[in-house]
Amino acid sequence: MTRDALRSARLSVRLAWTAAPLGCVTAALLMVVAGSTAAASAWLQRAVLDALAGTPPSGRAAPGTGGPDLIRGHVLVIAVALGGVGLVAAIVPYARRYIESELRRRLGLLVQDNVYRAINAFPGMSRFESPRFSDKLRLAQQVSSSTGSSFAGSVLGIGQAMITAVTLGIALYVISPAMAALVAATAVPAVWAQLRNSGRQADLAWRASPIARRQMFYARLLTDQAAAKEIRLFGLGDFLRERMLTDMRSVQSGQRALDRRLVRVEGLLSLLSSAISAAGLVWIIWQVARHQLPIGDVTMFVIAILGVQAAVSSAIASLAQLTQSMLLFSHYGDLVSIGPDLPLAAEPRPVPALREGIVLRDVWFRYDDGHPWVLRGLSMVIPPGAAVAVVGLNGAGKTTLVKLLCRFYDPARGSITWDGVDIREADPAELRQRIGTVFQDYMSYDLTAAENIGMGDLARLGDRDQIRDAAELAGADAAVSRLPRGYDTMLSRMFFGSADRDNPEVGVILSGGQWQRLALARGFMRADRDLLILDEPSSGLDAEAESAIHQQLRALRAGRTSLLISHRLSTVRDASIIYVIGGGLVTEQGTHEELMAADGEYHRLFTLQASGYQEGNHEDPAAFGRRPAPLPSTAGRSGAGSTTPGRRGA
Ligand code: ADP
Repeated sequence: MTRDALRSARLSVRLAWTAAPLGCVTAALLMVVAGSTAAASAWLQRAVLDALAGTPPSGRAAPGTGGPDLIRGHVLVIAVALGGVGLVAAIVPYARRYIESELRRRLGLLVQDNVYRAINAFPGMSRFESPRFSDKLRLAQQVSSSTGSSFAGSVLGIGQAMITAVTLGIALYVISPAMAALVAATAVPAVWAQLRNSGRQADLAWRASPIARRQMFYARLLTDQAAAKEIRLFGLGDFLRERMLTDMRSVQSGQRALDRRLVRVEGLLSLLSSAISAAGLVWIIWQVARHQLPIGDVTMFVIAILGVQAAVSSAIASLAQLTQSMLLFSHYGDLVSIGPDLPLAAEPRPVPALREGIVLRDVWFRYDDGHPWVLRGLSMVIPPGAAVAVVGLNGAGKTTLVKLLCRFYDPARGSITWDGVDIREADPAELRQRIGTVFQDYMSYDLTAAENIGMGDLARLGDRDQIRDAAELAGADAAVSRLPRGYDTMLSRMFFGSADRDNPEVGVILSGGQWQRLALARGFMRADRDLLILDEPSSGLDAEAESAIHQQLRALRAGRTSLLISHRLSTVRDASIIYVIGGGLVTEQGTHEELMAADGEYHRLFTLQASGYQEGNHEDPAAFGRRPAPLPSTAGRSGAGSTTPGRRGA
């Protein structure tokens, strides 16, 4: 914890300095000035009072105090100085507030930039799937939004309070060393208690992270547009709300216990310090009444003892804030220093234009050490210029294969080579530049139609002809052209009121099939790449649209190296080579004719699908990956025990 806090402190100081060196210097100077004004004022007030007390009303000097003019002049100088200190004290907080805000803004910007740079630098995907890592990510993100800012304020707050406490402490020491020692002694346990409490709070925040994550999940679900249908139909609203509240109560109960502890300790310490100042006050008034101390000492003593105590408690409050931000900074520090999630070659080998083909040799893969193997020694060849198809049951590992080809993960054993170059030795970004992919779980961006397509090839984001060509290829051009602002129409998954219709920022809602065509078009922006991967590219389309797309795909794939994954076997029959995978291995391979002649699993399923179609069942009950489940029989329903198709897009 201490080591973490020190590392975070170093890191944050370095960050603040990088963000605004001049701001740091100015803020530090203002901090010193602001911290010293209370003590300066106390000394000057004491001097004024003592000088006035030493001047007889007649204007004649008291013995040994010099002439009346000298005394008047002396008092005047002190009074002017006191006024000056007052002016400084009045103006410094405003200057500080501005400088600190600027420091906060710059620090926030820098931290945010670093956080997202670090995230973008992960070449693989495994971290995004780790719940623990997502907790760390969330806490690190908080640094940029809140803690980055509170850090500057709390450091300066502590600095100012310390300067105030020390300078007033000196004033107190001058009057009574014993009293100064006593006040200092009560500050020590208060600081210690605060530090301990902050440590506990940090632990609690980290331990409660999974619960907080779940609570946020329920909260998001309750407001999610996509979830709204099921939540209403199945009446899940109160069930989810109750779960969210249960998690929230559980997080709060830990915090409550800590708060109670804090109230007990801090309350006790506060009582103690009040008792000390009360005793001090009685003592000093008694001393002045007995003429043991001059009258000016009362003022200075009161300002000093109350000021020191206020400064100590303000320092403690800032310390609590600081240790909290230091904890979050430690997550930030972990994030920016964690390094890549895939081993990157120090000198990556270039990825050439594909001439010899891609070879997967004895590839073993599982998502995590505790997970079952998904691929168990899979071998296959993707020859250059070949239209390859991969089919297999749901969960056979087809999408996993795509992810490995894009090098989002590395195989645990075996290798994948691209023209003889093991892709582990290549720069993942360079490899991906050579691949165009339409993912099964594609993204729908709340951006314009043109951007949704153009993002497939950022370099051609502004190339409207290319975007239109890609849209045409995906059968999306006509629909996009009909949108209110054509390709410049904002697309959205959110509903907006009709009053917003004239606002170009307001999006229109597309259907699932239309989004899928846009995703296809986005993939087609890279149709000229060395390898085109299409993972269930038509799973959300109706039978007619699907057939049209596959006809276009056939033309597009001719002569190009491509890999098509499809559950509908009729769409892969033209492939140069079809791989059937199951049990983590290639179980059959060949052309459609060869596989049909082999009379194996492919033959069985193809025949089943074809017969499904002949019977007019366009929902394709025997499609690969969609084992139909028997419906539970219900009284009075005819045809109980018949089958129903599952969700499209296996
Ligand atoms: P397919 O595309 O053939 O339907 P997938 O490649 O998506 O199959 O999944 C293969 C297996 O890997 C499944 O058992 C699935 O549950 C598992 N799997 C897929 N993605 C992940 C992941 N991110 N983490 C853990 N397991 C996963």
